[in-house]
Amino acid sequence: MPIRVLPAQVASKIAAGEVVERPASVAKELIENAIDAAATDIRIEIKQGGRRLIRVRDDGCGIPHEEVALAFERHSTSKISSEGDLSHITTLGFRGEALASIAAVSQVTMVTRVESEATGSLLRLEGGELVRSERHGGRPGTVVTVENLFYNTPARLKFLRSEATESSHIVKLVSAYAMAYPELRFHLVDKGKLILQTPGNGKLYDVLIKVFGLEVAQQLLEIQPDESLQAGDSTEAEGYVPAPSHGVGVYGYVGSPSLHRAKRNYQILFVNKRWIQDRSLSYAVEEAYRTLIPTGRHPVAVLNITMAPADVDVNVHPTKREVRFRDPRGVFTAVQRAVRHTIIEQAPVPTMTTRPAVVLPSEWARREQMTLRHPGLEAGLNRAQMAMEIQRTADVEPLEVSHVPMLERLPMLRVIGQVRQMYIIAEGPDGLYLIDQHAAHERILFEQLQAEQAAMAVSAQTLLEPLPIELPPQQRGLLDTLLEHLTAFGFDITPFGGDTYLVRAIPAAMNAAHVPEVIAELLDVAKESRDAAASAEHTLVVIACHGAIRAGQTLTLDEARELIRQLEKTTAPYTCPHGRPTMIHLSSAQLEKSFSRR
Ligand code: ADP
Ligand code: MG
Repeated sequence: MPIRVLPAQVASKIAAGEVVERPASVAKELIENAIDAAATDIRIEIKQGGRRLIRVRDDGCGIPHEEVALAFERHSTSKISSEGDLSHITTLGFRGEALASIAAVSQVTMVTRVESEATGSLLRLEGGELVRSERHGGRPGTVVTVENLFYNTPARLKFLRSEATESSHIVKLVSAYAMAYPELRFHLVDKGKLILQTPGNGKLYDVLIKVFGLEVAQQLLEIQPDESLQAGDSTEAEGYVPAPSHGVGVYGYVGSPSLHRAKRNYQILFVNKRWIQDRSLSYAVEEAYRTLIPTGRHPVAVLNITMAPADVDVNVHPTKREVRFRDPRGVFTAVQRAVRHTIIEQAPVPTMTTRPAVVLPSEWARREQMTLRHPGLEAGLNRAQMAMEIQRTADVEPLEVSHVPMLERLPMLRVIGQVRQMYIIAEGPDGLYLIDQHAAHERILFEQLQAEQAAMAVSAQTLLEPLPIELPPQQRGLLDTLLEHLTAFGFDITPFGGDTYLVRAIPAAMNAAHVPEVIAELLDVAKESRDAAASAEHTLVVIACHGAIRAGQTLTLDEARELIRQLEKTTAPYTCPHGRPTMIHLSSAQLEKSFSRR
């Protein structure tokens, strides 16, 4: 085929594909326009997962009559005027292509009025063609109705998922914007049913309750500024608050370590209130929880990261979901520190519940589970069946719940005894504690090892006789690459020819009987580790695990007391380095309740 310039109609449909991927993309652009128009109240209505209808109504500034047709032209925007403006964008939109793209692949009606004009305008476009334009009454603000999305691009229509999936994307999107803008009122109606409504009182926590439900919200910790980072120069004037590190601010909420999910989709990140995806920042959040939640599980986080507009390039992705930072490392560190500091300062101890926690899923969770299980849910499944499914999926993965937030540090505990050679029973200021002796000891050893390693002085024990170990050939190469790394942890291992290695020294904290297991686990760690810091930490976890007292070991009262005393000194006494709890607490109130004393 000869090369030729495509007709404008075709070109605009191709361009639309970049911005308008699915109904949620339309909702996103319309909501962003409402926010950019300084709306305080944004109402969204959808039908058939947004395919049939998406309507966004706002009370923003509106568009003057003589400009309204221009809004639908490609590259028409009121938000920037020169290339230079691209380097400090403070609005969500700036490319002037969303309305044009949406109009190219749907039937759009816009009714808009600016307060200063007596009447507003009504505009209708079908497949990008203007079919109606007239004066129209109505309140100040804008209503955009998008009907029959992709009606003229059957190929795209085929790529849409089920109605349930598409509407779950819109629920997530509206929830995300509601969290980013707690000062705005959001209202989402799906098929005539109210799904989400936020008060617009500026309190993020109130939005989180609406989005995640009270039970989850109660387990969220507000990001606390790290005083140690702000201590700064004591000669500063009083009341002076130094800028957060690298001019990066981190605000929002993160889950306490007892709250974790099988998937990452409860990590919601905003940069200057723009909802973004960033693998590196998700990783920063996960890193902050390392050793505090079980491996393979993911924390919950809703974070707004702020910085000067010039420090972030938002013009790198068609749908603006990805951004580029001028100082990615600085942003990474700021996020990781803020989260880590918050959970270490505030994490509560898990509390014993008398019955398994039943968590009613929020709309978000419910839709997610529904769509996960039933990609084709709309295929005539009746509502009763659906409700049952929701109930069951909710039971499959309840969010772990701790009801009573506890002190950050371990309270003074009086040891009473040991049960099943596994648990220490202790009495505290508020009831009973049951402490897992192995998990507690692991935490103690882990933090001791961490301190030693930081001081580059992990103490070693020389074995009375060198211990020969044999490795299969494929593991030999791996161990060879590790030998030097391992000396920093107190190991002295040398190749002895063939399959054999001689272990001459091991970390003092470690049990010599566990050498073969430890080597095997360290080889696994080496295979999985993504970076040096993670690998060092994993190595310490393995050593601590194989040095800690085991279940089945009888402890004298003195030994148990010593263990608790050492646990009190740790910074994260409530979890073992694998992220499991070290103890459970039965409060006085729970005891009284269980004995029907109140
Ligand atoms: P962009 O948001 O990138 O400027 P759009 O195509 O989304 O591009 O919108 C084009 C223009 O139309 C905007 O710059 C704005 O001036 C106007 N506009 C769109 N939606 C609204 C709205 N809800 N309220 C007021 N003005 C709007
Ligand atoms: Mg826009």
